[in-house]
Amino acid sequence: MAAANIPQEEFDDEFLTCCVCQSLYNDPRVLPCLHTFCARCLERWRKGERQFTCPTCRQQVSLQGTGVNSIPVSFHINRLLDFRALRRSEESHACCQMCESGARVEGTCGDCRLLLCKNCITSHGNIPTLKDHYIITLDDLKNPRSRQNYTRAQYCPKHTDQRMTFFCQPCAKLVCRDCTITEHRPGPDHDPQDVSKAAQEVRAELQTLLQKAQETTEDLKKTTSAVGKELTTIATNCDIEDRKIQEHFSKLRGKLDEAEKEMRGKLREMEKTQREPLLKEREVLEKLKVHRDGLHSCANVLARDGNWVSTISSDGDKLNRPHGVAVTEDGHVFVADAGDHYIRKYRYM
Ligand SMILES: [Zn+2]
Ligand SMILES: [Zn+2]
Ligand SMILES: [Zn+2]
Ligand SMILES: [Zn+2]
Ligand SMILES: [Zn+2]
Ligand SMILES: [Zn+2]
Repeated sequence: MAAANIPQEEFDDEFLTCCVCQSLYNDPRVLPCLHTFCARCLERWRKGERQFTCPTCRQQVSLQGTGVNSIPVSFHINRLLDFRALRRSEESHACCQMCESGARVEGTCGDCRLLLCKNCITSHGNIPTLKDHYIITLDDLKNPRSRQNYTRAQYCPKHTDQRMTFFCQPCAKLVCRDCTITEHRPGPDHDPQDVSKAAQEVRAELQTLLQKAQETTEDLKKTTSAVGKELTTIATNCDIEDRKIQEHFSKLRGKLDEAEKEMRGKLREMEKTQREPLLKEREVLEKLKVHRDGLHSCANVLARDGNWVSTISSDGDKLNRPHGVAVTEDGHVFVADAGDHYIRKYRYM
């Protein structure tokens, strides 16, 4: 049982206590939000309204019929309450609630909602009106299988003395015999079937669905595996392509580096070719500067005496196009032609 590892009191608080009245559930009803409350607590809570909110989660509830009787019973909690009562009766050595023999309790009847002694359980089987009551014994309680089969009988909320032994397929609802001749009379809208027959059909339907689900699961497995393979292939292919791209660009970079090196080399060579004549010209210009500096002194000399100007012109055969003139401290005059091919020295007399 679920309670195996939880102390009984804790289990009662957690699963069997209504949070409105803080007592064990009394006629537990399940709201659409799946919160459970006692029928009487909900009746008080709704204050006569057909629409109200869940005391726990505030979700809207609309009553389908009149009163909280139209809210589904929690069979699960009722079952647990019956188990609890039976277990407690054993611990407290309680006596039968049906006869006055004072005999120990051996089981409980979900229909009579009474704890029963061994004799009363036996007599249930002999009295026609009690014959099909749902009974669970202490031995059954210890056996998970019989425990699972036990349930309280479900009575019709409209015809409270009638068990709900029919299932109306179109309404997907459990109904009683009386309902099958009133609200759920067989016709185009209603089809009440014996609950065991309906259960059989539903079971078969579930079996088919289960089969389909299994097939779908198989298909899913296959598809998942195929998708997995495809993903692996994509990853591998991408890795290969990635490596190719890297190699390609690395080659390109190598080529670019080479081209850069070559272009820079050519540029330097070009610089050299252009620099050399310019350097030579600068050298000449440097020399000419010296000549120009001398020219100044020369001009002075010429201003005092014009003699050696004629000296230059008379000797013009060799000294073509005299270009620069320099005068030394001691009065020697140097005259150079263009390009400094020829320099003549004069002496002031
Ligand atoms: Zn309550
Ligand atoms: Zn709720
Ligand atoms: Zn008895
Ligand atoms: Zn009974
Ligand atoms: Zn009914
Ligand atoms: Zn119906």
